Formats: sequence, C-alpha cells, structure tokens
Amino acid sequence: MNVQTGIRWMELFNEKIQQEKDYLTQLDTPIGDSDHGNNMSRGMSHVIQAIESESPDSLEALLKLVTTTLLSKVGGASGPLYGSAFMGMLKTLQQDDSSWSKILQAGLESIQKRGKAEIGDKTMIDVWAPVVQAVEDNQLTSAVIDEAVEATKPLKAKKGRASYVGERSIGYIDPGAYSSALLFKAMLESEGK
Ligand code: ADP
Ligand code: MG
Ligand code: MG
Repeated sequence: MNVQTGIRWMELFNEKIQQEKDYLTQLDTPIGDSDHGNNMSRGMSHVIQAIESESPDSLEALLKLVTTTLLSKVGGASGPLYGSAFMGMLKTLQQDDSSWSKILQAGLESIQKRGKAEIGDKTMIDVWAPVVQAVEDNQLTSAVIDEAVEATKPLKAKKGRASYVGERSIGYIDPGAYSSALLFKAMLESEGK
C-alpha cells in the first residue's frame, strides 16, 4: 500500500458506500436506527473532499486525514469506531518494518479497544477479524469477505444498538459488518486483486 493506492482505496470505498447507501440503511432498520447509510455516506463524502483539497503526499498523511475526518464528521457508533481503526493503522504505519497485515491488525485492535466488542458479538469486528487473518495468510478474496458478512446473520447482537433488540437481532446481517466488507473489497480492488 502506498499513497496512490491508498487514495484509490478511499475513492473506491466512497463509490461503494454511495452505491449501497440505501441498502446500508435498510440493514440498519430492523436492528438499528436506520442511519448507517447516511452516516457512512456523509463521512466518505467528507473524506473525498478532504483528499481533493489537501492532496496528501504520503500514506501517513492520507491515514491522518481519513482519521480526523471520520472522527469529526461521522456521528453514531460507526464514526468513532472507523476513526479509531484508521488511527490505530496510522500509529503502526509510523513504526519501523510494519507490514500491511500488522497495520490492519492494529486497526482491528483499536476498534476493539474503543468498542469492547469480541468476535461473535455481531459487529464490524466479525468482518475485520477474519479479513486481518486472511491478509496475514495472503488469502484474502472477495469470497472470504462475503462469507464473513453472511456469518453475522445467525448471531445475536451483544454490542451497539442492535443489542437492544436482543434475540430479535438474529437473522439479520450487521450493517457495520457490511460496510466493512465494502472497505475491504475496495482495498482488494485498489491493489488490483
Ligand atoms: P449507531 O448504531 O450509533 O446508529 P451506525 O448505525 O452508523 O451507528 O453503526 C452501527 C454499526 O456499528 C453496527 O452495525 C456495528 O457493526 C458497529 N458497532 C456498534 N457498536 C460497536 C462496538 N461496540 N464495537 C464494534 N462495532 C460496533
Ligand atoms: Mg445506526
Ligand atoms: Mg445512530
């Protein structure tokens, strides 16, 4: 990952979020408050505007910009959680010999530090964790991502708004898991995979 690929990654993520905004909102309706599409759409529009106005010239500058934009512009649970993910990635990027899988791992750990969710709690963690593992094993594919999203369906939510509906959260895909899937599909595409 370099700055050009990183910018492409964010552009592709933005495109997918805008295309699937209504679907994200739909997912956030039975087990949430129907705002995940709007939250992510607004946040990514701001990220793209910031990239255009500031033209980051290093991956570090890009991750910094994404972090501050998501933390300041996205409300709800997802803004601070995605913001934390990029902040964790930034911190690890700044260390010597940090591989991309270690950088993503740091993103996952930051989300967990902030949101205290474990694997199986029906959150974005349920996509981040298997993706990080697959990147480490050099086996990330679109199918791996889809499988992780689908696996959130039978889970009972234990964190976030979806946990308020308890048993009734069973049978639905987690919205944050789905938006995280878009993030990682965009990453694969940006890398030409
Ligand atoms: P809100 O729930 O505040 O309306 P969003 O709808 O934008 O915010 O985001 C909801 C998503 O955030 C959930 O689908 C879930 O993936 C994720 N989420 C919520 N709480 C947590 C948490 N504690 N840890 C990890 N992810 C979480
Ligand atoms: Mg919501
Ligand atoms: Mg909300």
